[in-house]
Amino acid sequence: MSPSSSPRMHRSLLAGAVLLLAPLGCVTSTQEGAARDEAALRTDAPPRVKPKWGLVIHGGAGVISRENLSPEREAAMRAVLTQALQAGHAVLAKGGKSLDAVTAAIHVLEDSPYFNAGKGAVFNHDGVNELDAAVMDGKTRAAGAVAGVRHIQNPIDLARLVMEKSPHVMMVGDGAEAFAQSQGMPLVDAKYFYTEERWQGLQRALEQEKAKAAPPATPGQPPSTPDQQQPATPGTPAAPPATPGTPAASHPVPGQPPVTPGTQAVPPVTPGKQAAPPATPGTPAVTPGTPAAPPATPGKQAAPPAAPGTPAAPPATPGTQAAPPAKPGTQAAAPLTPGVDPITGDHKFGTVGAVALDQDGNLAAGTSTGGMTNKRFGRVGDAPIIGAGTYADERCAVSATGHGEFFIRYTVARDICARVEYQDLPLPEAANFVIHDVLVKAGGEGGVIAMDRQGHVAMPFNSSGMYRGYIGEDGTPTVAIFQQP
Ligand code: ASP
Repeated sequence: MSPSSSPRMHRSLLAGAVLLLAPLGCVTSTQEGAARDEAALRTDAPPRVKPKWGLVIHGGAGVISRENLSPEREAAMRAVLTQALQAGHAVLAKGGKSLDAVTAAIHVLEDSPYFNAGKGAVFNHDGVNELDAAVMDGKTRAAGAVAGVRHIQNPIDLARLVMEKSPHVMMVGDGAEAFAQSQGMPLVDAKYFYTEERWQGLQRALEQEKAKAAPPATPGQPPSTPDQQQPATPGTPAAPPATPGTPAASHPVPGQPPVTPGTQAVPPVTPGKQAAPPATPGTPAVTPGTPAAPPATPGKQAAPPAAPGTPAAPPATPGTQAAPPAKPGTQAAAPLTPGVDPITGDHKFGTVGAVALDQDGNLAAGTSTGGMTNKRFGRVGDAPIIGAGTYADERCAVSATGHGEFFIRYTVARDICARVEYQDLPLPEAANFVIHDVLVKAGGEGGVIAMDRQGHVAMPFNSSGMYRGYIGEDGTPTVAIFQQP
């Protein structure tokens, strides 16, 4: 069945586009303003009628509910999103390049502790912040990306330097940081990235991981064998030993000299000492609002999308995850414990991203992230991978957020733009099909922001919320978080 003939696609057509009718004035200062924004960015709003230049941003997708977001926190996050939109708009309004607007907006989000990028980056399993970012110029298809950097305050700037000042597209780790220094970009002490909230998030994830990996205390069960890998003890990540709330060796202690490249404060990870991924027999049913993604277990693939001839999955209900079709002999894409994502622990992704269309009709995209809480040392997500979490060409630009392993396997950003290019699909239709059909069937949670060269906007997500915003020519920032106003 072609995407456009599927009943779901008709729904998605409506669901993907946004109508941007917010009147002039501050949209985040009052409850009324926030409600109006939510209404304006509803994913089932009708398509825009007057495509123009503009900027779209995201601050991550995930299980975000009004119950777990305090009014103060929500207001603060909306304020930062608004500031990011205004920073990008300032560039575009004076005829600046979409690339500059994208980096200006991402800069603001990276500098905020509320989003999982730059300052607010999450911790990996070893209690270290490893950051990824990418930027792409749709006009030239020039691209730059960095992965696994630990001392770069604004990774999006380094991605741009890689794009503009090196012959390469992607640089990683120490090499990327050495390149930064060669370009006059200062390195920051790793403790810059420490936030108590993210540290506690890691401790929760480690606790959950341990609880799931612990053998059930059932009489008669055989004891664990010595080769069985054990998870890290909660509160004591493999490296460094950490007391909750106290940054350990990876976070240079005040008074100590800053970490320099090549002299990481983090002890090397000993092969074979990694905590075992949780492995619980059985595949519990997917609970609404629960990420359907399995843990990134080496050697085990997520269930592929339905093969031709297999019955289509039920339509994706906003805010719920459709269970992927279980095929004999394949591991179902389901979390091991309903309600808890074994990797993120806190049910939320928080990558930031921006896409923009400038007055010359050129598109650009950028994404920056701390990755996923409790990710293993050296893990790289989709954000810095061109075509997976970030992509722009002359007709389409995409930045993604979600469970990166799925976005990589399904080359989500490029898939959306390829559908626009090869199938001549309207952007919202292409974006919605990939997020609500392809990814949902695969069990991948997340969303994207996307723009085409006419200025059409799509912001589909298959999680319960996604921090997002739009600003057009009139300079009115419009911010939304939830599915429903
Ligand atoms: N996509 C990111 C990653 O997998 C996570 C996120 O969106 O927050 O690294």
